[in-house]
Amino acid sequence: MRVLITGITGMTGSHLAEYFLNKGGFEVYGSYRRRSPRLNLEDLERSGRIKYVEAGVSDVKVIKKAFDKSKVNMIGAELTDAFSVRKLIAATEPEYIFHLAAQSYVPGSWNAPAETLQTNIISELNILEAVREMGFSPTIQIAGSSEEYGLVKPDEVPIKETNPLRPISPYAVSKVTQEMLAYQYFRSYGLKTITTRGFNHEGPRRGDNFVTSSFAKQIALIEAGKQEPIISVGDLTSKRDWADVRDVARAYHLLVEKCQPGEVYNIGTGVSRTIQEMLDLLLTMSSIKVEVKQDAARMRPSDVTLLWADASKFKAATGWEPEIPFEQTMRDLLNYWRAHV
Ligand code: NDP
Repeated sequence: MRVLITGITGMTGSHLAEYFLNKGGFEVYGSYRRRSPRLNLEDLERSGRIKYVEAGVSDVKVIKKAFDKSKVNMIGAELTDAFSVRKLIAATEPEYIFHLAAQSYVPGSWNAPAETLQTNIISELNILEAVREMGFSPTIQIAGSSEEYGLVKPDEVPIKETNPLRPISPYAVSKVTQEMLAYQYFRSYGLKTITTRGFNHEGPRRGDNFVTSSFAKQIALIEAGKQEPIISVGDLTSKRDWADVRDVARAYHLLVEKCQPGEVYNIGTGVSRTIQEMLDLLLTMSSIKVEVKQDAARMRPSDVTLLWADASKFKAATGWEPEIPFEQTMRDLLNYWRAHV
């Protein structure tokens, strides 16, 4: 099977690439930008299991010849550029597409709403159009988000796919639109799109602006004597349903094999914890004594306060269950930062 992962330099994309490579029987392709950080791919680089193919002025035949099927093949592509995306799709002829690339940071979307909408919506549009024009028939996973639910009422949890969507950030609006676009291309042209509403997923390589990773990194910095023993926090009362990114990678594979095109699936653990509980857990893993200080810059204009997944639809379709306990996820994340600060 030929697998194309957009956003392969991100946390989830890098784990998904390793998942398919280690599983065997898959040709793995990923799109990257010239300026993309390569940190998340360092394990693949170190073991010589990655190959960069610069699309540049080369035509599709030349790009295809440069691929090494035993490695993760990285193709330079600008996803907001339709020409670039057509070349990417023509060169890789994917049978599975995992569309993960996105401006994925909710607070960043208030600061750059137009860029968020442009990246998240137009990139997907370019992929769907390229697939349609070329007459390929891949199964396409679209990474929607639990943020689409937005304002969730206390009597609506755990949240089912049928819950109303009340998005309250530009990021969430972009994800609702991505989902609608996927549905429209399924209905209008029969493209095999499936949308996941992923609840938070965490683990090694999580960007340090996300709350779990921010706390873990700060603890590692304090342990290393590189930060005063003060942890800056935002709102600690909101609740999240945190899965391990490696369980989510496995879920995505099951999704494209077993789920129904045109449908939407929640992916989450079914356990909801406050951000305070997550911080307390991390602090039990370290011997440091810290002061916890609220930082106004970390507060959001409107916050999603309650996320708790009912993933029974996805579990019934695939048999998926999360396997990695939350404690392990957080310990691995903290150890990741201990090795990187
Ligand atoms: P990351 O932020 O770790 O990775 C995002 C990826 O998108 C990176 O590879 C980044 O590339 C790429 N990207 C960003 N902007 C652009 C652009 N303009 N053009 C091309 N590529 C771009 O995200 P995650 O791995 O955490 O998430 C993957 C997907 O899942 C995202 O769509 C996210 O919204 C969604 N999601 C994630 C959840 C989570 O908790 N992790 C929960 C629900 C949904 P570069 O390295 O070049 O910046």
